[in-house]
Formats: sequence, structure tokens, C-alpha cells
Amino acid sequence: MPLISGIFFSQMKKVDAIIVGMGIAGVCLAETLHQNKKSFYIIDSNKNGSSKIAAGIYNPTFLKRYNMTWNGKKFHKNALKFFRKIEEKYQKKIIFEYDILKFFSSFLDQNNWIDASKKPLLNKFLDSEIQTKKIKGVVSKFGYGLVKECGRISTLILIEEFKNNFKDSYRNQVFDFKKIVVDKKKIIYNNITANNIVFCEGYNVVNNPFFKNLPFRGSKGEFLIVKIPNLNLNKIIKRSSIFIMPMENENYWVGATYDNLDKKRSPTQHKKNWLVEKLDSIITKPYKIIEHNASIRPTTEDRRPIIGSHPKYKNIFLLNGFGSRGVLLAPTLSRWLYNYIYKRIPIPKEAGVERFK
Ligand SMILES: Cc1cc2nc3c(=O)[nH]c(=O)nc-3n(C[C@H](O)[C@H](O)[C@H](O)COP(=O)(O)OP(=O)(O)OC[C@H]3O[C@@H](n4cnc5c(N)ncnc54)[C@H](O)[C@@H]3O)c2cc1C
Repeated sequence: MPLISGIFFSQMKKVDAIIVGMGIAGVCLAETLHQNKKSFYIIDSNKNGSSKIAAGIYNPTFLKRYNMTWNGKKFHKNALKFFRKIEEKYQKKIIFEYDILKFFSSFLDQNNWIDASKKPLLNKFLDSEIQTKKIKGVVSKFGYGLVKECGRISTLILIEEFKNNFKDSYRNQVFDFKKIVVDKKKIIYNNITANNIVFCEGYNVVNNPFFKNLPFRGSKGEFLIVKIPNLNLNKIIKRSSIFIMPMENENYWVGATYDNLDKKRSPTQHKKNWLVEKLDSIITKPYKIIEHNASIRPTTEDRRPIIGSHPKYKNIFLLNGFGSRGVLLAPTLSRWLYNYIYKRIPIPKEAGVERFK
């Protein structure tokens, strides 16, 4: 680590925490710090993040196997409370409520749905009725069921809004690990001195010398934005392993793919063809592809997030591993990390970095 010499201490900015990364993890942590009157400084390269391109769908159920997701009910409740508070505070709409229409693939699928909709926890979200009403422009052979209390968080609006509100606490640059000075009581980075530093780098954590040995896997996701005139869909469709989600101006987000092997960030023709094939099997109206893009989800070996402090440097922290549920997880996990740093409340074992000792 470099020495402190050469830094003009009079110009130094002092904050409680430096945050590296301004995706959904960085923003939710910064907001949590702000709500608790802690100061922060964010360094973000604005490159390759998955939050800005994610659909931002929040859905606490797992529609492949008709289960609740990990802590689904609690995370759903906390996330909506957190994002509603942000909407009020910054006077910006970020929550778009949409039911999800889960299209069935067979009569067996219908029966499984009916069974699942009677289960505790799931019954709050899965409507037991099998719907058969035709939707113009959408192929439906076995009908569909309604997943309630779901929707979309516009992560793009959220991040941009946060950036505008905290211009003086944000620097657009790549974090240079050669410049960090760590001692027991403080962290120094360029002209910033902080009590703690928290890395929220998404999948780019694999390049972080402090945490790169943790079992991050990464799952590449590709998606399309398509324009479908006169489809007029005001619900999210989930069918054949893709979502079709309404956006503005008759545009729809269509995706996504999952690939654990390909770690290149660029979209591929192969996956585009796959998405088009899926879309063609669901939508009968003509459409135009506006965008085809990709990013890598920060997934982990055991499919749980990884949060906590570095084993040696106790003022260096990690908030990561949100996989494909960043929107649901980020508010609660930011609070867990905040409570750990400032109140010494232990992080639940299944999310703590210590499980990899
Ligand atoms: C196609 C696709 C669709 C998805 N859909 C959904 C969805 O519908 N719902 C949902 O909840 N989740 C979804 N996800 C998952 C979601 O995107 C992630 O869980 C979440 O965005 C992870 O957030 P993060 O803040 O940890 O990381 P990121 O969003 O990746 O943010 C990391 C930030 O850190 C910055 N950074 C990294 N390294 C450095 C460095 N050295 N110096 C400076 N800055 C750095 C990056 O520029 C970036 O801005 C989807 C993901 C993909 C790929």
C-alpha cells in the first residue's frame, strides 16, 4: 500500500464511508447512510454495471418451481417501504406497479399453480384463479395466473436521481487500488479520508484484490428492447422463461438469458436469436428491435449475497452477490451491513462473508 506522503491534508475531505460502485447496492447503502446522518463519498466508473440495464422487476416468488424466494416476503415489504420513501423524498417516480401474468405451459402447470396458490406466504401473491381471457396479440393455450403486488423499480431513474442530488459526494472514475492507504483507524484514497470503505462493484468484484478470491460466479444476461405498436399491455408477461415488460412509448423489455460461462460483456447474435424465437412464440403483432444489450449478474456459488468485512482489514467492507434479485435484496442488505458496521449487529450467517473462511 502507498504511503500517506504527498497528500495535502488541508484539502482533504473527511467522510464516514467511501463507497465504490453506484449500482443498486451502492445507492441503497448511500441512502441508508444518509438516513442515519452518516456522510459518504461515492466513486463509480459508470461502466458495465448491471443495475442500469436491468428490468428492475420485483417479484418475491420463484415462478419456475412455485416457491417463495429467500426471505421473499420480508425483502419485498422492506424494499417497497424503502423505495416509497425515496420517491417521496426526491419527488421522483421510480416504482411502477404491474401484476405479472404467468402463462401456463400445460394442464399440469395449471394444477401446480392452484396447489401453490393455497400455500402460506405464496397465497398473498399468487391468485388461485386460472385466467383464460384472451389478450389481443398474445398467444395463450393454457391460460395464465396473476402474480400480485409485483412491478418494476426504474433503477436507471433511481441512480440518475441520486447522482443529481449528491453531485458533491460523487466522482466518476475507476477506483485505483494502488492509491488506497489502509490503517486500523482510517482509509485514505486520494484526498478523501474515511472511517470505512465499502465495495459495491457488482460482478467487477472479481478484479478487487481484497475480495477476488470469494466464490463469485457471474451470470451473463442478454435482453432486447422492442417496440410493439398497439399491444397496449399494462401487465408483465412471464412465459417460456422470459419476461415481457411494458416500458414507455410502446416499448417493451424482453429477457433475459442466463449464461454462466460467457464472461464477455458484449451481446451475442446467438442469444439474440434465442430471444427473438421466444418472443415470436408469444407475440403475434409485428415489432421492431430497438436495442440488444447484455451485462453480468453478480451471482455466487451458493446463490446468496456476500456481505461483511475483510478478514484482515476490519474497515474494508463488501456488499455484493445480489444475483438476479438486486431490487428486492438491496434495501434490506444495505441495512444489515449498516447495522453491522455501526451497531455491531451480526449479519445473518447465510449472507455473511465469514461463511467462506
Ligand atoms: C439482463 C439482466 C436483467 C436483470 N433483471 C433484473 C430484474 O428484473 N430485477 C432484479 O432485481 N435484478 C435484475 N437483474 C440483476 C441486477 O441487475 C443485479 O442484481 C444488480 O444490478 C446488482 O447491483 P450491484 O449494485 O451489486 O452491481 P452493478 O449494478 O453492476 O453496479 C456496480 C457499479 O460499480 C461500478 N464499479 C465496478 N468496479 C468499479 C471500480 N473498480 N471503480 C469504480 N466503479 C466501479 C460499476 O461501474 C457499476 O456502476 C438483472 C441483471 C441482468 C444482467
